[in-house]
Amino acid sequence: MTELRFACDAMLGRLAGWLRLAGFDASFDASLAGPALAGRAREEGRWLLTCDRRLTALAGPRVVLLHGAGVEAQIRELRRRLSLTAAPERFLVRCSVCNGDLAPAAREAVAGLVPPYVAVHAARFLRCAGCGRVYWPGSHAAAITRRLQELFGG
Ligand SMILES: [Zn+2]
Repeated sequence: MTELRFACDAMLGRLAGWLRLAGFDASFDASLAGPALAGRAREEGRWLLTCDRRLTALAGPRVVLLHGAGVEAQIRELRRRLSLTAAPERFLVRCSVCNGDLAPAAREAVAGLVPPYVAVHAARFLRCAGCGRVYWPGSHAAAITRRLQELFGG
């Protein structure tokens, strides 16, 4: 099965973030709208996710009109419409901010970029190939994983 890729409309920034955290390639550019957004999604083979009924007319066959308010309802709709499932081993492999891929980084390479306590004590580090943000396992990552299991599990 080819992996589903998404393009989120300007109203769906939070949804894009959670899709990325779950490991999905989800583009989000609030400056794109209407035909430009629909065209980009089509060119890149992405499913266009939108709350705007007018936009569905501009899109190709790959479009999902979301009615839900809030990320939880939107993900429920997506799971129903596209039989979307998320694999826990793909959680937290993608930057929630810019959609870039995360790659392992050496402690020395990121020491100056994270809080001093984290630089010493974190078990490992991941760095975004897109924006350079550094991620590390910790209580925040654990909370995100739990939330992803709620959103995508069951
Ligand atoms: Zn990034």
